[in-house]
Amino acid sequence: MKAITVEPKKPGTARLEDIPEPDVHYGSVLVEGVGVGVCGTDVEIAEGKYGWAPPGKTRLVLGHESLGRVLDPGPASGLKKGDLVVGIVRRPDPVPCPNCAVGEWDMCRNGRYTERGIKEIDGYMSERWRIEPEYAIKIDPSLGILGVLLEPTSVVAKAWEHILAVGRRAFWEPKTVLVTGAGPIGFLGALIGSQLGMEVHVLARMKTGPKPELVRALGATYHSCSVADVGFEPDVILECTGVGQVITESILAVGASGVVCLAGVGHGGSVPKLATADVASTAVLKNNVVFGSVNANKRHWYKAAENLARADRKWLIRLITRYEKPENFKQALERKPDDIKVVIQFSEI
Ligand SMILES: [Zn+2]
Repeated sequence: MKAITVEPKKPGTARLEDIPEPDVHYGSVLVEGVGVGVCGTDVEIAEGKYGWAPPGKTRLVLGHESLGRVLDPGPASGLKKGDLVVGIVRRPDPVPCPNCAVGEWDMCRNGRYTERGIKEIDGYMSERWRIEPEYAIKIDPSLGILGVLLEPTSVVAKAWEHILAVGRRAFWEPKTVLVTGAGPIGFLGALIGSQLGMEVHVLARMKTGPKPELVRALGATYHSCSVADVGFEPDVILECTGVGQVITESILAVGASGVVCLAGVGHGGSVPKLATADVASTAVLKNNVVFGSVNANKRHWYKAAENLARADRKWLIRLITRYEKPENFKQALERKPDDIKVVIQFSEI
């Protein structure tokens, strides 16, 4: 079968190739791949900056934002042939640490977790894949191709769960959220904010085009200024850019007893003009919380499936801005200015 594979840590080694059918050790459920979303992590792996091949192998099948159709449900999975499923990405570490032991592998303490398509387990960019029944999330069939958005939605479902949990340390009725960044994570974070009944604001660089229009179509307010100039003090900031300056401004701009959730992974950038101690003092004097959030456990995947099922399909479909065939995976890995989510499509839905 065809699969998109890469030799991790070696740039330019990604290729579409024939590999053996998925081994039964991957799980008793056999799935026909429908589509796989591409994200920044896939680009980094293809650029040789990240990723680990399975033990004893040199190449890794890419892809962690899956959607597939059950071909063979195997014994006792509770699934039926034809069900649309999405595969969970992370698996608990083998020790396991206390968090993995209770199923909160997203909070793994020792870093020995594994991840499909990223760390030591083959991913989902193949014509067929197998999965353990307990790691297959069945989605509302009416979502169709939109199921490919479940993985990024699970990431923001977790971020929101933690934002609300952190806020409960004191009396707190959050009404406004500022989402910084208008990529898939930013848009899906804004979607959940609106489903929670909050007044949603999204900040990004571009002044015109599909992204500002999509923000307005959600009933949210779009800003293309700096965080300092949005004109209000957000109760929550969901930071999705990973840009140092935006992070600093977010910590300074969030309202008193507010929460800043850092969900963007950045690298380097310019040195901030304001000293860390001065930024921290603002957080101290306003009782603010700044925390990081990554990945998701099964509870978040389940909630994310509900978030997607409740969302306006016409709005969601606009988040998928490009479909590419597997043989054109190189184009799929290239970022274009108006791209939100690019999907590599393995079969018709
Ligand atoms: Zn662990």
